[in-house]
Amino acid sequence: MPQPLARFAGPLLPVFGTAAVTALLWAGTAPAALFGIALAQWAAASGRTKTAQGFSALVFIALLPGFFSYVTPEALISTGQWLAAVSAVAPEAALTQVRPPLLATLALMLLALIPLLRQRARLGAPLLLAGAGLLVAAQLACRLWPLPIAPLLAPGFGVWLAPLAGLTLSQLLLARARWQGKPRLNRALVPASALLCAALVLWQYQYRHVETRLHDATRQEGDVLAGRLADDVHRQLDAMRRFAHAWQLLHTSPSARQWRRQAARLYDDDFRYLVNIAFIHPDSRIIHVYPHSRLNTSVRGQHLFAAQPQSRPVIEAALSGRGQTSTGIIELLQGGPGIIYYLPMRDADDTLTGAAAMVISLPLLADTLFDALRPDRALWTWHGPRRVLARFGSPSRPGPWRHRYRLDLSGQTLEIVQRPLRDYLLARRSRLPAITLTIGLVLAYLLYMVLYTLRRLGEQNVAFQRSNAQLQEEIDERRRLQQAVEWLAHHDELTGLANRRRFLEQVDSLRDAPPLSLVLCDIDHFKRVNDQLGHLTGDEYLKAVAGIGQAVMAEYGGFFARYGGEEFIGCLPGAHHARACHAADTLRQRLFQRALRQADGSRVSLSAGVVTYRGGRFDLPHMMQAADDALYRAKRQGRNRTESAAPLAE
Ligand code: GH3
Ligand code: MG
Ligand code: MG
Repeated sequence: MPQPLARFAGPLLPVFGTAAVTALLWAGTAPAALFGIALAQWAAASGRTKTAQGFSALVFIALLPGFFSYVTPEALISTGQWLAAVSAVAPEAALTQVRPPLLATLALMLLALIPLLRQRARLGAPLLLAGAGLLVAAQLACRLWPLPIAPLLAPGFGVWLAPLAGLTLSQLLLARARWQGKPRLNRALVPASALLCAALVLWQYQYRHVETRLHDATRQEGDVLAGRLADDVHRQLDAMRRFAHAWQLLHTSPSARQWRRQAARLYDDDFRYLVNIAFIHPDSRIIHVYPHSRLNTSVRGQHLFAAQPQSRPVIEAALSGRGQTSTGIIELLQGGPGIIYYLPMRDADDTLTGAAAMVISLPLLADTLFDALRPDRALWTWHGPRRVLARFGSPSRPGPWRHRYRLDLSGQTLEIVQRPLRDYLLARRSRLPAITLTIGLVLAYLLYMVLYTLRRLGEQNVAFQRSNAQLQEEIDERRRLQQAVEWLAHHDELTGLANRRRFLEQVDSLRDAPPLSLVLCDIDHFKRVNDQLGHLTGDEYLKAVAGIGQAVMAEYGGFFARYGGEEFIGCLPGAHHARACHAADTLRQRLFQRALRQADGSRVSLSAGVVTYRGGRFDLPHMMQAADDALYRAKRQGRNRTESAAPLAE
C-alpha cells in the first residue's frame, strides 16, 4: 500500500472493516469470516496488531454459534431451536446458510485465532495453521476425489474453498519468517499434527458411520410404508375375491339389497381409498354401486364399454370369465386417477352373472399412504407411469438423498420417491463425530503446547546452567584474587615470609606469655651486592637468608619475618635471652657457612641484635628500639656478630 494512502486509510480501517464485515454477515457467515480474516492478516502484516486482533476476535465470535450448533447435543439445544434463532436474525436463511460446514468452520476459527495469538509459536499459532491446512486439504480432497465425506451440510460452499485455501497460504507466508529455524517448533509440530491427522481420520470414520445409519433409518421408514400399503391392497383384493366367490351360492344375479349388505361388510372405513364396489352386468352396464354416494349413484346405469372404451379389453376379459383383470391407471368416471380391478362372478350353476369391480382412487390411496407421515420429515412424491400422482411434505430444503420404492399393486407397479428434509436429518444426526474432531483438535493443541514448552524450558535450563557455571568460575577467580591480596597484605612476596605488620601482630598476641625474645638481623654490606652483582643476585641472597632464618627459628620454636629491605626479624616465644643469642649466632653462622659471596669473593654475613622480654609492662616499640640499638652496635663493632640489648625491665 502506498505510504500516504496507508496513513490516511490505516486509522479508519477498523471502522470500514467492521462495517464491511457486518454487511457481509447478511450475505453469509462464510464470506464475512473470510473477509474478516483477510483484514486481520493485512493489519498484522502492516504492524497493526491491535486491529488484527480486533478483526480476529470479531470473526471468531461470529463463528462460535455455528460451531456450538455442531457440538451441542440435540437434547440440550435442539435443531429446531437453532433454526428458530437463525430465522429470528435472518428470516429467510436456513441453518446451513448461516454456518459453514464443520470442517470449514473449524478451519476459519483456527485461522482467526492465529492473529489473536500474535502469531506466536509459543502460544501454538503454528499448530493452528497446520490444523487449518489439514482441514482445508481434507475438503479439497473430498471435492477432487469422490471421498465418502458427503458434503451434506455444505451446499454451495465449494465457492469459498479457494479463498479459504488462499488465506491459509497467505498466513503461512506471513508468519514463515517468524517460525523458521526453530528446531523445537518442529519437534512439537510433527507429533501434534500426527495426532490431528488421527483425529481427522477418526472423525471421518464416525461421520460415515452416522451418515450410513441415518440413510438406512430413513430408508427403513419408506420400506415399512410401501410394504404396509402393498399388503393392504393385497388383503383388500383377497377379500374382494372371496366376495366375488360368495355369489356362487346364489342361483340368480345379486339384488340391490343383497349387494348393499355384502358390499357394506367389505367396504371398511379403514380402506378409504376404495371409491366403490360395483356389480357390472355382462353387457358392461353398472348395475349396483356401493356405497351410495352422490358420485357413485351418478355412474349407475352407465355402459362401461362406452364410458371407458380404453379399458374395454380388460373389462371384456373379466366379463367373459377369464379371471381377475385390472385397468392400469385410468381417469375414473367419478373423476381423478384410479385403478379398477374386475373379478368375474358366477352363480350356483356356474353361469357368468357379471363382474365385481373394485375401484381404487389414487388420490385417496395417496391420502391413506401419506396419512401416517409427518410433513416435516421428508418430501414424498408418488410417480405413475407418465405423471406425478401425488406429493406430500414441504419442498423446501431437501436433503441430499432420494430413496425409491416400488409399490406393486397386483400387476400395477408404481414408484414412491422419498427425499428426507435437511433440517430433519440435521436433528437426527449424532454430534459425536464433531465432538471427536473438536476434542482431537484440543488434544493436539495441548500436546503441542506441552512439547514446545518442555523443549523451551529445557533450553532455558541449559542456558541457565551455562551462565551459572560461568558465574561460579568468576566467583572462584575472585576468591583466589582476594586470597592473594590478603596473603600479600601480610606477607613478603619475594621471600614468602610474614611481613612486618603480620610479625608485629603475632608478637603482640604473645605478650602475655614471657619470656619472649626478638632477633633483629641486617645483612652486612648488602648495598655492595646489589651494586656489584646486581639486584637479581641481591634478591637470591635475600631468599637464601629467609630460608636459613626460617629453618633456624623453627628449630628454636620460633618464627621468622622480613622486617623491611635486607632486614629480617625472628621471634622466639618462651626463649630466654641466652637461648635467643644462641639462635641468632646459629643463624649468623649458617649464613656464613653457606658461603654466599660478595663481588670481591668475601663471604656474605649478617649482624644481629637480640632483645628479650622477661615480663612486666610489654612495650613492643621499646623492644624494637632496643634490638635496633644492639644491631647498630654489632655493625659498629665490625659486623658478622650478635649483640645483646640491655636487659629490659622485669
Ligand atoms: P651495612 O652493612 O651497614 O648494613 O651496609 P649495607 O650496604 O647493607 O647498608 P644498608 O643497610 O643501608 O643498605 C641496604 C640496601 O639493601 C639498600 C637497598 O638497595 C638494598 N635492598 C633493600 N631491599 C632490597 C631488595 O628487596 N632487593 C635487593 N636486591 N636489594 C634491596
Ligand atoms: Mg640495612
Ligand atoms: Mg645492611
